[in-house]
Amino acid sequence: MNSPHPEHALMDIAARPTAVMVRGSGSWLEDAEGRRYLDFVQGWAVNCLGHAHPAIAQALAEQATRLVNPSPAFFNDASIRFANRLAACSGLDEVFLCNTGAEANEGAIKLARKWGRLHRNGAHEIITFTDGFHGRTIAAMSASGKPGWDTIFAPQVPGFPKATLNDLASVEALIGPQTVAVMLEPIQGEAGVQPATLDFLRALRALCDARGLLLILDEVQTGIGRTGTLFRYQAAEITPDILTLAKGIGGGVPLAALLARKSASCFSHGDQGGTYCGNPLMAAVGNAVLDIVDTPAFLAGVRERSAQLIVGLNELVTRFDLAGVRGAGLLLALELGPRHDATALVQRAREAGLLLNAPRPHCLRLMPALNVSADEVTQMLTMLAALLQD
Ligand SMILES: *Cc1c(COP(=O)(O)O)cnc(C)c1O
Repeated sequence: MNSPHPEHALMDIAARPTAVMVRGSGSWLEDAEGRRYLDFVQGWAVNCLGHAHPAIAQALAEQATRLVNPSPAFFNDASIRFANRLAACSGLDEVFLCNTGAEANEGAIKLARKWGRLHRNGAHEIITFTDGFHGRTIAAMSASGKPGWDTIFAPQVPGFPKATLNDLASVEALIGPQTVAVMLEPIQGEAGVQPATLDFLRALRALCDARGLLLILDEVQTGIGRTGTLFRYQAAEITPDILTLAKGIGGGVPLAALLARKSASCFSHGDQGGTYCGNPLMAAVGNAVLDIVDTPAFLAGVRERSAQLIVGLNELVTRFDLAGVRGAGLLLALELGPRHDATALVQRAREAGLLLNAPRPHCLRLMPALNVSADEVTQMLTMLAALLQD
């Protein structure tokens, strides 16, 4: 069954199984030996429309024959259309298109620091959260609260004090003359799907308003329909001052966005840029993704599949005496409890043809394609039950 590791010159940055993936379709991924996997990871919540969606293939093909990159020194039609649509659906005003979540978050940090210099007497500290995740550049790692990340590439970028999620007093205690913003994921993804409560999000919005701070939401993982609404903050009926998007927005291609309210959008010429930023090839894919995801029927479908998955997971909780289910929409965690090793289960699942993710030792994260079918959800639950039974 186990093939030898392929010959490769890739840096060894992760423990990877020997399988070499060669194609995919919807919720299914296939390796070079023809094994098929039901994919409930989807590139870490990236492929919102599953693998090889025809609308994405068509957008890439059409745009590639017309214009790939005129350079960010010129406007292009695809990025103007995409930015206008993002502004309209988010309720924010201005958009900077880029390539990765970390890059969008770097932009958010720069924007907040610039705003602090212009409007808050040089205030530059951004209150962030223990166990938060904002990406792998040095500043994004400094903003993250992942255990150990403060020392691997020390020294960190200063100015990111850490509060505790869902503890407003811990945020208030960190506010000082140098504070310019509060930055968080509305549901901490990498931490194992730990939701900020909607009350906490509303309280943060009110606190930022009262203290003249910017509220920055990192919706890289939660945005673009993942939690059953286009953005998670809509469930709390608030709007951030600055918003970052990536992952689902590109349906699998490198595409990200930094959005800001007009009042917070203060970059001058030269402050921000990037060779690939706003290229029409990726923007065309973003438009294709929005065509499909930003419709009431599609989002209702996400909520239906979510309800089905939550019912099924709760049945497993009862049947196998597990610890519980967390999350929203199709970003869910199954807390297994101390008797189950999630990493070992992920490996056994893969051998059985099911792809799952274990962000924590006793926790599974489920992030299927947003267009996963009812049958595929049932199939996944059946496979997972068999694995838990063994
Ligand atoms: C994945 C992720 C990032 C980093 O995105 P990249 O595209 O990998 O740089 C940032 N924030 C959150 C919440 C994420 O889930």
